[in-house]
Amino acid sequence: MKMRNIKYIVLHHSATDYQANAEDTTGKEIAKTICDRAQDKWKKEFPAYICDYHFIIGHTGEVFKAQPIEQPAWHCTNYQANLVSVGICFLGNFEKIEMPIEQFNTGVQLIKTLMKQYNIPLINILRHRDVVSDITQTTNSTECPGKNFPYIHLLDALRDGEPFFDIGEDYKCINEVKFLKQLGIIKGDGKGYLKPDDFITREGVMLIAYRIIKLLQN
Ligand SMILES: [Zn+2]
Repeated sequence: MKMRNIKYIVLHHSATDYQANAEDTTGKEIAKTICDRAQDKWKKEFPAYICDYHFIIGHTGEVFKAQPIEQPAWHCTNYQANLVSVGICFLGNFEKIEMPIEQFNTGVQLIKTLMKQYNIPLINILRHRDVVSDITQTTNSTECPGKNFPYIHLLDALRDGEPFFDIGEDYKCINEVKFLKQLGIIKGDGKGYLKPDDFITREGVMLIAYRIIKLLQN
């Protein structure tokens, strides 16, 4: 089979409550249920279909392989995006809970491996909600992967020391930026960009002043 052209990784949550099933310590049963449902849904059109995701990561950090990576999976409501992306589902409902560190670390490792293997840039690691829906023609048409999904932390971990996407080691104030970001004084635009040539708003100035004074008071 010809390898498809993988350009994006799209991150999901299962929106399931794994606490409700104490016998299933790794999330294996939930992963199986997710695959079973997808197979049931697609069995007529695609008898070989396995899952709407390529990988499912449990809360203990176990990875369950699902749809073979060379085959598209219908994980986001955008036909073209599905053809060129890998779907990773983190088990849990991150509208309600925080992600356990084991699950987070496995996610970072898996994404790093895929980025290297398929030469995927960091800017193409998207949350489901960042993908434009074919139905609504907008982003944010889903909550997935939930408001507590540690997207920014994940990007930080994948960036390997670079503080923001849009500046590199050649940026004139790179050391100052790293220093200020580490202290939590600057946070960029919340999506991983510094946008160094944009104007700052009054609100932005106040937030920075507030964070500096708070820090000095501690
Ligand atoms: Zn999703």
